[in-house]
Amino acid sequence: MGAAGGSNKLRQSAETDSRWRQTDTVRSDSVQSQQINTYRAYAADAHQYSCDQGEDMKIMVVGGGGREHAIIRSLKKNPEITEIYALPGNGGMTGDAVTVDIGAKDIGAQVRFAQGNGIDYAVIAQDDPLALGAVDALREVGIPAFGPDAKAAEIESSKVFSKNLMKKYGIPTAQYEIFEDAGEALEYVKTCRIPIVVKADGLALGKGVTVAMTRAEAENAVRFAMEDRVFGASGERIVIEEYLEGPEVSVLSFTDGKTLVPMVSSMDHKRAKDGDLGPNTGGMGTVAPNPYYTEEIAQECMDRIFMPTVEAMNAEGRPFKGCLYFGLMLTKDGPKVIEYNCRFGDPETQVVLPLLKSDLFTIMKATTEGTLDRTEVVFSDGAACCVVMASEGYPVAYEKGYEISMDDDVRELVYVAGARYDDGVLSTSGGRVLGVTAVAQDLRSAVAGAYENVKKVSFGNAYFRKDIGARALKALEG
Ligand code: ATP
Repeated sequence: MGAAGGSNKLRQSAETDSRWRQTDTVRSDSVQSQQINTYRAYAADAHQYSCDQGEDMKIMVVGGGGREHAIIRSLKKNPEITEIYALPGNGGMTGDAVTVDIGAKDIGAQVRFAQGNGIDYAVIAQDDPLALGAVDALREVGIPAFGPDAKAAEIESSKVFSKNLMKKYGIPTAQYEIFEDAGEALEYVKTCRIPIVVKADGLALGKGVTVAMTRAEAENAVRFAMEDRVFGASGERIVIEEYLEGPEVSVLSFTDGKTLVPMVSSMDHKRAKDGDLGPNTGGMGTVAPNPYYTEEIAQECMDRIFMPTVEAMNAEGRPFKGCLYFGLMLTKDGPKVIEYNCRFGDPETQVVLPLLKSDLFTIMKATTEGTLDRTEVVFSDGAACCVVMASEGYPVAYEKGYEISMDDDVRELVYVAGARYDDGVLSTSGGRVLGVTAVAQDLRSAVAGAYENVKKVSFGNAYFRKDIGARALKALEG
């Protein structure tokens, strides 16, 4: 099976109206030119950067997990960037970024920090600050930021919005009903086809979705969300949707609201245990590219899902700029959207960005400035694998505070998600502790390499799946 690897062959633009482009460029130029004029010429620091001269850029990245660590590592390759701040970041980023104790949801403090520290560009990597309007707030004070504004971020923060968007614009997705009343939802569950999927409308840390294999499970899921209010306001409304079957594919893309460039595809492993058993987690590992995602399917997705989504958001007056993530299911009736995310996925980013050959910062700026059609976005033809090392017991109950050690030769291949750094000691502080990656010419070597690298990292109570990539390798064998 020939997977669609690097994405350059697939690049499409919604641009048909020159007025659109011009307005956009003028607006972003006026923000950018003030910024650019203030940058000092910079003689590159010999220890990290190879360029002789660049510009002294200060970047802030909002978020604190493995995804943000991978973004920071990628940004660091740009010789113009001299300082990166992570808000709040985590202890494992020491050496890559300055961590700042400001929470990802504290938009006011983020804006004050950016203004007070001469931040030239912000990357909002996490969903909540995007939904809360971090990009809007920074833009208001003249600081450009990567990511959608709050109106466009609703494509992730409200499943009711995204399902209605897909229905209105004919984008393939599971059939669904929306409920605001628990009684009505429970009545519907009595007669609907089983299995069925129950989804809380709002953000719920990836826990708001129940794939119910029995009617009782579906009823419990409705009660959990609407009566017990386990997800707070996120469960005020729910979506009950048709159960779909087929391989899942994640496709992240860059878009400036006109042009969309898909990144290399990937495959997540959400369940805690080998064989895709156990509870759902934030993700236990990823591989890229996803062997199910052939060139043919990629083209179909571009024509029927990706560009229609960009156009639909424009038509709704919510142009999307940043990273638009498509969670897809390849059903027997063709690819369908399971979910949109308005930002990079975690841990997909940890396999996708290591395969990016072009400069991430240049691409990010192009999404903000509306110049993606003129920007190089090239991925390597290779493959990558990330194995997440978690604390035993995750996602239910687990101990933390164990010292983490790793060999020097894997340090740059480890993206830390849940760790503290105190008095020179790195120790575990979360469920998903870190992701160990490998990049290779082919998927088999990448998977083997990642597991070799896992042997070079240790901490007390470590747990990881032993079968990351196994399903993808089986699919490759046909
Ligand atoms: P995430 O943690 O990815 O943000 P989420 O809470 O937004 O998750 P979804 O991605 O919508 O939830 O669903 C989570 C998982 O549930 C999917 O990856 C998929 O495996 C399964 N799922 C969701 N919708 C369906 C469906 N209609 N049919 C079958 N399985 C589904």
